[in-house]
Amino acid sequence: MLVVMQTGASPEQIAHVIEAIRSLNLTPHPLPGAMRTAIGITGNTGAVDARSLEVIDGVKECIRVTKPFKLASREMHPADTTIPLGMTTIGPGNFTMIAGPCSVENEAMIQQTAEFLMENGVKMLRAGAYKPRTSPYSYQGMGREGLEIFKRVRKRTGIGIVTELMDTENADAVEDATDIIQIGTRNMQNFALLKRVGQARKPVLLKRGMSATLEEWLMSAEYVMAGGNYQVILCERGVRTFSDHSRNTLDLSVIPPCQSLTHLPILVDPSHGTGKRAYVPAMALASLAAGADGLLLEIHPHPDKAMSDGAQSLDFAGFKKLLDSLRKLAVPLGKKMN
Ligand code: PEP
Ligand code: MN
Repeated sequence: MLVVMQTGASPEQIAHVIEAIRSLNLTPHPLPGAMRTAIGITGNTGAVDARSLEVIDGVKECIRVTKPFKLASREMHPADTTIPLGMTTIGPGNFTMIAGPCSVENEAMIQQTAEFLMENGVKMLRAGAYKPRTSPYSYQGMGREGLEIFKRVRKRTGIGIVTELMDTENADAVEDATDIIQIGTRNMQNFALLKRVGQARKPVLLKRGMSATLEEWLMSAEYVMAGGNYQVILCERGVRTFSDHSRNTLDLSVIPPCQSLTHLPILVDPSHGTGKRAYVPAMALASLAAGADGLLLEIHPHPDKAMSDGAQSLDFAGFKKLLDSLRKLAVPLGKKMN
């Protein structure tokens, strides 16, 4: 349910409504807007009589949100969400690039990649310190040491960091070292982890589960938001289908329905989506054309020597070429590359 306050409702009137919602054993979520404040209500609202809230001073109306995801829905929050990051902003009008190696392998390669990205106007670096690998014998990442590398490289270059959190035990350490906490495809429905990052003070990049419907994906976003963290960024990374010509099937057709159902920004990961570097540029450009808010993609100073996902990583020259093409396409689409 959504309580819409009148334009010019006073802070006292808003506080009074919040108190009334709490007294019904429900959770209020104040959503300040340009014109007026709205207050989202989560919990079991089935038995609530909307009129009991509508009669409170300063309330304009109460609206029932029909979708099972509430805080993530456009019904509750019509305006697109903006994610301010300090070094850049994800959200309407922007097309945000996040690039870097699949895994942190050593400090020199992260420093080198960060310098290359900053020189080319890309302000966010992705890399995994904790890697979810299909085989326990594959490279598992540098763990805590990798997080320390992020802190030093961030300090030296000013670049923002995106890295994956795989379990609740490392939540504090990852939150401290990163600008955006990534939740990987395999953890999209790890509800304990979603609840934990709902408590975090950093934005969450939520990858789509490899067999998740759009509704299931948005319900996972809802878990994070229900915990009080409204800064959620969705990321399409390909789903499992019968197709075997690519690692996954990059579902760009999810972008328009996603944007009609939710106000949250959506990025695309064409690296995991295709699994082969030759296919990445076409799908990156298609993501921009389809209305995505940015890209998460894998690049590596020496892809052939990468410890994970080298086959889908662009080298620096390939990435530079792609950036040029994206910049050209962004102009007629009215998007600002950042
Ligand atoms: C990654 O971004 O490196 C990654 C492991 O992605 P996904 O969770 O989409 O497989
Ligand atoms: Mn990877």
